[in-house]
Amino acid sequence: MPWEPIRKNPDTWLLSPQLLDYGRTCAEFTWDGVRRELAGFPGGKGLNIAHQAVERHMGGPNQDRLAMRWLGKDGAVRDLTFADLSRESSRFANVLVKLGVGKGERVFVLAGRIPELYFAALGTLKNVSVFCPMFSAFGPEPIRQRLERGDGCILVTTLRQYQKKVAALLERLPQLKYVLLTDAPEDLNGTVLSLPRLMGAASSEFVIPATDPEDMALLHFTSGTTGLPKGAVHVHNAVLTHFSTGKYVLDFHPGDIFWCTADPGWVTGTSYGIIAPLLHGITSIIDEADFDAERWYRILAEQRVTIWYTAPTAIRMLMRANFEPRSRFDLSALRLIHSVGEPLNPEGVVWGERTLGLPIHDNWWQTETGGIMIANFAAMEIRPGSMGRPLPGIEAAIVRRSGEDTVEVVAPGEEGELALRPGWPSMFRGYLHDEERYRKCFVGGWYITGDLARCDGDGYFWFIGRADDIIKTAGHMVGPFEVESVLMEHPVVAEAGVIGKPEEIIGEIVKAFVVLKDGYAPTEELRLELIGFGRTKLGSAVAPKEISFLETLPRTRSGKIMRRLLKARELGLPEGDTSTLER
Ligand code: ATP
Ligand code: MG
Repeated sequence: MPWEPIRKNPDTWLLSPQLLDYGRTCAEFTWDGVRRELAGFPGGKGLNIAHQAVERHMGGPNQDRLAMRWLGKDGAVRDLTFADLSRESSRFANVLVKLGVGKGERVFVLAGRIPELYFAALGTLKNVSVFCPMFSAFGPEPIRQRLERGDGCILVTTLRQYQKKVAALLERLPQLKYVLLTDAPEDLNGTVLSLPRLMGAASSEFVIPATDPEDMALLHFTSGTTGLPKGAVHVHNAVLTHFSTGKYVLDFHPGDIFWCTADPGWVTGTSYGIIAPLLHGITSIIDEADFDAERWYRILAEQRVTIWYTAPTAIRMLMRANFEPRSRFDLSALRLIHSVGEPLNPEGVVWGERTLGLPIHDNWWQTETGGIMIANFAAMEIRPGSMGRPLPGIEAAIVRRSGEDTVEVVAPGEEGELALRPGWPSMFRGYLHDEERYRKCFVGGWYITGDLARCDGDGYFWFIGRADDIIKTAGHMVGPFEVESVLMEHPVVAEAGVIGKPEEIIGEIVKAFVVLKDGYAPTEELRLELIGFGRTKLGSAVAPKEISFLETLPRTRSGKIMRRLLKARELGLPEGDTSTLER
């Protein structure tokens, strides 16, 4: 049974949403309009992300506003104004110049969410070098692979990371010129240098060179959910998407306090954890610590967060924690909650409304798209389980292949591949060192995303599954998301991962792996109950025939369920690339 739509009541809005009339905004939208709003370089040519994010605010009313409030693991707090960010990032850019690092050269960062990461990101962009973030929990092999495949020339990291993981790799990384240590007071040798020393000696003034909007700016590796992570190349022009999605989806208004919980090691943590809020001159909360339900609620309350951008995995963990936050924490400042990264089960959307007082707005995008493409908007009704509607300036469709190099758009309600019309500013410009794979993503004038979905008659998109995860059972195509969402409606289920298990007669059977909520034990009785529950809700063709209980599901470090690992383990097959597996 479909879930009731969640209608919005304008009488309860604290602020009028930026996007009020979807049809009209889409009809009037142009990328040139966004470019004009951003004003470009004063009197010069080009478009540079760091100029837009930081320098643009200098000399204006935002200059001394709080750009970032950094919350250290140990309770330390560091406030950074836009002027502070401008100075520190200029210092970093000058360090790059001094070390002979130029345009297009790759600057990798391997660090937790520490202030230096943000200085390095913005300073790298100022220098028109390429920012390549890595997740700090990666082990030596994923680090080496990325530095090698990404032609890393500089690595910014901490002394501890260096000693534990990087030092032993250096011999095999001849193209890496320097390692800059964020917390070493002295250089270790001629190529492993102290960043504080270099920053201390560098000028806080830096003139950003003319930047072509097509100059490479960011290199992001995908999450590795379906296989070996791919290096997606992004250019400075992406800033137009960062700006317009910050406005229309995240609904930034002056004075907002925004918290994006994603780590900059992934694209969300860069596009929205660094760039978009700065573009709009609002304050970001940066928490150095990892997920902890109590800490998170406390941050939302104490920092008076108004807009929160998080992920289904975190929402499921909060649901699992099973307590009423509003009895202990004042969440009254919160105006909007967004989620991305994985399908958000309808149960999660509604839990938000019940427990936090606000429904959760799901949105969809990928490393390759560089920014949000499909979203639930503040002013629009939410259909729980739907990813929402395409952004102004984005043409999305459900297509089916009709020939070698042709596709057809299918009728509303029909399933097919989710496709986007190429040409939006933050579209990736290539997979690093894999031109052929990049070319194969474009068919018949569309970018094919690799996800299956459908679009209803009102233009809302519904995720079905990744093309690789789709289960073919007795002539039906079953998306794991549908089955997982139904299992999650059962009160004892915390989360579920569903795969197809080869079977001679019907092709594949649907198999579910279930994690129980705290306080419930896996019993045979419960297993049978869940099988019955699935059958009642889904019908016998789609319901899981087998259910196993697990303590946790294998997931990527960005929090996505790795169904390919559930499958490999079930079938005793090799696990493939596990560089992004959370351990
Ligand atoms: P890889 O490409 O290496 O297998 P990945 O696709 O998980 O990894 P990302 O680019 O981080 O890497 O993730 C994008 C994918 O995440 C999308 O293609 C989609 O499958 C999934 N996704 C993101 N947001 C949503 C959403 N709101 N609903 C459903 N799926 C989503
Ligand atoms: Mg992908």
